[in-house]
Amino acid sequence: MAHGNVPALMTAEKDERIIDGKAAAKAFRARVAERVEGFVKRHGTAPGLEVVLVGDDPASQVYTRNKEKAANKAGIRGALHRLPGDVDQAALIEQVAARNADDTVDGILVQLPLPKHLDETAVLDTIDPSKDVDGLHPMNAGLLSAGRRGLVACTPRGCMHLLSLTGVDLTGKHAVMVGRSNLMGKPMAQLLLAANATVTIAHSRTKNLQAVCASADVLVVAVGRPKMVGADWIKEGAVVIDVGINRTDDGKLVGDVDFEAALGKAAHITPVPGGVGPMTIACLLDNTVTAAELRRGETPSV
Ligand code: NDP
Repeated sequence: MAHGNVPALMTAEKDERIIDGKAAAKAFRARVAERVEGFVKRHGTAPGLEVVLVGDDPASQVYTRNKEKAANKAGIRGALHRLPGDVDQAALIEQVAARNADDTVDGILVQLPLPKHLDETAVLDTIDPSKDVDGLHPMNAGLLSAGRRGLVACTPRGCMHLLSLTGVDLTGKHAVMVGRSNLMGKPMAQLLLAANATVTIAHSRTKNLQAVCASADVLVVAVGRPKMVGADWIKEGAVVIDVGINRTDDGKLVGDVDFEAALGKAAHITPVPGGVGPMTIACLLDNTVTAAELRRGETPSV
């Protein structure tokens, strides 16, 4: 997906190798706010995003509150709906269906993970694909793999934007995606493929993972294992995108890549925190505007 005229934002005065996700997300959100402004002028109302949170998981509460706040800051009508942790499947599906039927709602996001007694797949499948701003409905996943326009999962979109800021042409590059989740690994691999990279998808059963990673011109890691990727896993001059978010025993956030070690090898690398994370919410807001425009028969203003 093209990203218009967002300027390349690297932390030039600090270290040009470090991709500044915070600055990138700020610029991206400013562009979303402009899109919202245009939308309001055309339709007299702002796009609406509804976030559904089940239970009281502390991390999910923070994430959903941040999403609601960021939406409202960008001029989107953001609303957070809390449901008790013991809500049953039928009641949750009813809530999603009510938002499908509400024409003032353009985007629906069900915060994951759901409590164990709920069937996540069935819930996600209930979301109207035209309002599926997380891009997790099989219809949107299918459109992505068919190379057609749909709503694309937020974190992979954010990673592609950060890659674009490096100025590195992905054509013909060997891109290795470590992780194959529906949320991250699979859609990211599709986006890299669409950008003409030669893509390898690695996972927990991959043989010689270190050697596979060390052959990557572009290495994207979304596993959830603190500092799994060390300097020996990285090709000299590679671009490294670290999606992992892990909390260490002393409460620090670290990625799946050993950042300090990798810095000696990588040409460009995202830090954790302050890399991929901030872009995820920015892309959620952008997807909400895109959904609102598509639902009104417009060509998205991106
Ligand atoms: P999942 O647990 O769904 O997927 C993890 C993937 O990693 C699986 O494909 C798994 O392989 C693979 N894996 C596990 N262990 C290994 C190993 N030892 N070697 C190689 N591959 C392995 O996680 P997600 O994709 O949802 O998230 C991954 C990480 O990214 C997490 O830390 C999460 O917190 C973070 N994240 C960050 C976001 C952000 O906004 N920055 C957004 C989304 C996720 P297999 O399929 O074989 O089991």
